[in-house]
Parts: sequence; structure tokens; C-alpha cells
Amino acid sequence: MSTQKDYYEILGLQKGASIEDVKKAYRKLAMKHHPDRVSEDKKKEAEERFKEISESYAVLSDSKKKQLYDQYGHAGVDSRYSQEDIFRGANFSDIFGGGGGAGFEDIFGSIFSDFGDIFGGGSRDRRGGFQQSGGEDIQARIKISLEEAAFGAEKELSYYRFDSCPTCSGSGVKSGSSKVTCSLCKGKGAVRSGMGFISVSQTCPNCRGRGKVIKDRCRQCSGEGRVKKQHRIKVKIPKGVKDGSILRLSKEGNFLGKMRGGLYLHIILLPHSQFRREGKNLRCQIEVDALSAILGTEIKVPTLDGKVKMKIPAGTQPDTVFRLKNKGMPELNSGRFGDELVEVGIKIPKNISKKEKKLFEEIAKTRK
Ligand SMILES: [Zn+2]
Ligand SMILES: [Zn+2]
Repeated sequence: MSTQKDYYEILGLQKGASIEDVKKAYRKLAMKHHPDRVSEDKKKEAEERFKEISESYAVLSDSKKKQLYDQYGHAGVDSRYSQEDIFRGANFSDIFGGGGGAGFEDIFGSIFSDFGDIFGGGSRDRRGGFQQSGGEDIQARIKISLEEAAFGAEKELSYYRFDSCPTCSGSGVKSGSSKVTCSLCKGKGAVRSGMGFISVSQTCPNCRGRGKVIKDRCRQCSGEGRVKKQHRIKVKIPKGVKDGSILRLSKEGNFLGKMRGGLYLHIILLPHSQFRREGKNLRCQIEVDALSAILGTEIKVPTLDGKVKMKIPAGTQPDTVFRLKNKGMPELNSGRFGDELVEVGIKIPKNISKKEKKLFEEIAKTRK
């Protein structure tokens, strides 16, 4: 299903803007929101945005589709074109000029091979055509300690993913046999079906858009062309990642249709025995005895870099929070640090000796 936001709005244009303006706007936005140009934690967002602007461009740069859209809105385009058809007609390379330097085809190609799923199933290959299915993304979770989040780490991750079937090299066909044209779609890969007066093009369910079907399936993969296997990788955890951050590892996902999808790794931050993370700051609780709080003292406070000395001034009140500058968490990709907040609790002695009691009574008298 295509986005229902206004295509002109997505490109930051007035309704009915010219194709020239559409091209200009798209070029600017596509460079800005390219997922490979943003930091790791913003990638997912950038991909979404990139998809959105590319779809808007695909429609508004094509005079026929633009006319349909201007007249009937999304319904006009959706009723005539499948998601793939919307992109098929669009000229993405023209806009970024061919030859010389890193052409847009390169950028585009890398995105589409990395995110087979970016356009909801179909993905574009470097020649500008559509492959029916390219890779499949996997979601996985990885647990890290607060120290690993603070200093960065290299973690080993073991997970299951689909690899190309070694017996049939991913074709799904039994050796000696070959594929035959799909009888349902006659090799087109798509079938049209009616919904009221609207006719929509759909991926052929029989051949799943491939146009061909396997007559004799490979024994090992049952014709799937891929087999599930345990896979190990080393993952670099960047300094400053947060609980819930998602790391994207391109080409570590499932093999599907000659391509590999991405691996989306969700970071789970384990609780720490001494520190609580509050954004970039760390909070910890320390207790000092009542006399030290009254008279003042120097204590040792844990930080991620080891213990440091901290002054407790005379007359410190319960629950006072002291701030240790730059002893908190590193900020992602900035080189800056948060602070450590030390919350001081006051311990009142439960049992005191007779002698101590006398002395406290003395003090009480003098304070009256
Ligand atoms: Zn096989
Ligand atoms: Zn078919």
C-alpha cells in the first residue's frame, strides 16, 4: 500500500508544481535523507523518508502518473499502477546525471541491495529493472551491559538465517531439471484482479512473481532455494548506544531471490548494580553516616572509570544530589559525555553505646 501523505507535501512543494521543480526537490531530499549518510540510530527513519520521497518522485516526475494524481489523488494512481509499476517508469539515474564520480545509481544500487524490502517486496537491481524478491530482513536482539554501552564493544552474535542452498545454488531446482513457465500468469509474474471497477495488478501467487515454476524441486531445500543455518558474526557496539537502539547490519539477513536482506539488531541494555541510566547521565546512590554529613568528609564514589574522591561538605542534607561532570555516558558520535549524579543518603545509627548516648545528650543540650 502506498503512503497516503500528499506527494507534493512530502517533497516540500506546492500542489501542482512542475516536473522540473519535482526533480530539483527530489535530488536535494534524496541526498539529504540517504540512509547511508545518517548515523546508525537514524537509519530506519531515513529509510522510511527515502522511500517516501522516492515514491513521490516516481509519481510526480512521470507526466501520466502526475496527471492522474493531480486529478484523482492517490486513488487515481493506486488504481492504475501497482507499487512496482509506480517505480518502474521513473528515471532515477537521469536526475543525478550519469558518469563521473559517485553517480546516483551507485547510491541507489547500494540501498536497494541492502534493503530488499524497502519497497515492500520488490527491489530494484542495478540495471534498473525490478527483481521480484531481494533479501529478507531479520530482527534480532542483543543484550549489552552498561559498561559495553559506555565504552563500546565487540560482541559475538549467533543466530539463524537463511543461506543459499548449497545443493541447487539457490535455484530450488533439482539437478538435471529446469524451470517451466508459470501457467497462471503465463510468465508475466503478475495477475490482474478486479475490485469493483478498479482492476489491480498483483504478484502472481503461483510463481510468487518469478514467472517460472519449478517442476522437480531440489531435495535439500524443497525448492525454496535456501536453507536455514546457524550463523555467527562479530558486532561492533558503538559507544553511547541506548536501550532500544537499533543497529542495522546490511547483508546479514536472510537470503532470498539471489540477495541477502539486512539484520536489524535491537539493543537491550541490562540493568546495572550501581548505576541507573538517565539519558546521557548516570545516577547512583551513596550513603554517608549522619556525623560525616554534619561535620563534612571526603568519600570515594564509583564511576565507570573507577572510584573517584568526592567532597561531602559539612551540613549536607539527606538526598542532596552532587554532580560529577563528564562522568556519565558518552553521547553517540559526539565525543561529549553526560554527568554522574550522586544522590547522598544519610545513615542514622540504630544502636549507640551508653557513652555515645551521653555525648549526644550533651550536644542536644547545647543546641537548645
Ligand atoms: Zn536446494
Ligand atoms: Zn505466475
